[in-house]
Amino acid sequence: MSKGVFQIPYPDNEPINSYEPGSAEHASLIAKYNEMYNQKPIDVPMYIGGKEVRTDNKKPMSPPHDHQHILGHFNYGDKSHTQAAIDAALAAKPAWEALSWEHRASIFLKAADLVAGPYRDKINAATMLAQSKTVFQSEIDAACELADFLRYNVYFMQEIYADQPDSQPGIWNRLEYRPLEGFVFAISPFNFTAIAGNLPASAAMMGNVVVWKPAESQVYSAQVLMEIFIEAGLPDGVINMITVDGPDAGDVIFSHKDFAGLHFTGSTGVFQHLWKTIGNNITKYRSYPRIVGETGGKDFIMVHKSGKPQAVVTAISRGAFEFQGQKCSAASRAYIPQSMWDFVKAGVIKDVESFKMGSPGDTKNFITAVIDERAFDKIAGFIDYAKEAKDAEIIVGGGYDKSKGYFIEPTIIVTSNPHFKTMEEEIFGPVMTIYVYEDEKFEETMTVLDATSPYALTGSIIAQDRYAIEQATVALRNCAGNFYINDKPTGAVVNQQPFGGARGSGTNDKAGSKWNLIRWASPRNIKETFVPPVNYRYPFLG
Ligand code: NAD
Repeated sequence: MSKGVFQIPYPDNEPINSYEPGSAEHASLIAKYNEMYNQKPIDVPMYIGGKEVRTDNKKPMSPPHDHQHILGHFNYGDKSHTQAAIDAALAAKPAWEALSWEHRASIFLKAADLVAGPYRDKINAATMLAQSKTVFQSEIDAACELADFLRYNVYFMQEIYADQPDSQPGIWNRLEYRPLEGFVFAISPFNFTAIAGNLPASAAMMGNVVVWKPAESQVYSAQVLMEIFIEAGLPDGVINMITVDGPDAGDVIFSHKDFAGLHFTGSTGVFQHLWKTIGNNITKYRSYPRIVGETGGKDFIMVHKSGKPQAVVTAISRGAFEFQGQKCSAASRAYIPQSMWDFVKAGVIKDVESFKMGSPGDTKNFITAVIDERAFDKIAGFIDYAKEAKDAEIIVGGGYDKSKGYFIEPTIIVTSNPHFKTMEEEIFGPVMTIYVYEDEKFEETMTVLDATSPYALTGSIIAQDRYAIEQATVALRNCAGNFYINDKPTGAVVNQQPFGGARGSGTNDKAGSKWNLIRWASPRNIKETFVPPVNYRYPFLG
């Protein structure tokens, strides 16, 4: 038990390396990438109760930009492995939740220093290989955002613990922040290594035990996360990583009486299905499960005629196409005033035509491949739909080729229909759709924007006119959980722009913040009376 009121030092955001060609950091990361690309294929186990578990069902792992190259295999499990992971988590629970909080904090602070230090090249190179991120996109995700999640969450945990109720004379009220009674199921998406690490770690940090299922296309970098947690000293069974078919895992987990919480990031459809399943099983559980989910988006750039046209061009080029538009925050629809259109059109075409596309191992490339064949086919389907449509035109891009990797040209569609399919549906690829409006219809266009899509994740207003900025901030209040003024709608930084959206985009529990962490605690109030009354009669009874 602790014998001191310990204080976590206030963290800083992890500084971002720029990886300029010729720099030592560039040489070191590219050497690691080449080493991992060329090494003997690896065999990624499941991690259950501290044991590496392998099966006869091996699934190959390949870089999306080079799908014939085998990086290794992972071991596919089944319902029995899901059950074993729950058993291991519940076995680890008593010791883990009894451990003094400063030791839990130390483990995750150490994990952050491992990510930022000795594992930096490895986690970045794994993310370049598994998810086809460029060096810079890997750095801001796998190294910096992950270290930030870990460090700031530890700090927020301490703030939560320090948040205590008032006491009147003669009594002392205390709040203790118990872990949930049961285990947490973390399900992570392919697109951010940092999210994959944060979903299990944030719940575990608060004293919970976790079964974690990463996305199949991210297992290669997920394995590095497990290596880091183990090296940081995380006890066996606290986080159990299983690579099992989602519905198989769900069948076992959602019917278990000790299921206590879902920490999910992924698509809206999957989340809604999981929520329904939990609802249908509600009588089976010991407690009401916490359900936290960050889901899809249809993120926008709204432009006022007073905006700086070149800022609009750059917001589109970076906001829509970095990481091939596969950030949940990626801009995928823009509303441009007619008076600015010629300039913006010429600017975005020029930018897109200058992008180089290929392997992230060649750092001249700004665009690499999309995650897998399923995503490739779906995105290509949207592009084909636009090619056929009467009310849309592709002004740049539109090509795709999956012979070597899943490459899709950054594509800009212009439509005369603000409800065109690609203005409304999440594509999750390098496709931006633009609607050009008459300058005087600013307000009306924002009403259309507000009603166009079920999502409300990120969005931005680009304007110089302060009245227009305020008007947009009010009119678009419920369209985005992260709203940007004169910027692209991507690139949220932990502790600076707490991230999450509402409507169909999620429960808005703001990853990497106190609001998220509090969901993994079940507070217990303890009231102690020093000198208890000894007569039941109140004065009013006379
Ligand atoms: P996805 O929904 O296909 O998969 C997410 C996870 O759910 C994966 O681990 C997958 O295996 C699992 N899964 C799928 N079906 C399941 C089932 N029936 N039972 C249990 N698990 C199941 O999403 P994805 O393609 O990996 O990621 C892209 C999506 O994630 C996009 O919609 C994007 O907007 C969203 N996303 C949102 C945020 C945010 O903060 N709002 C952040 C990142 C990604």
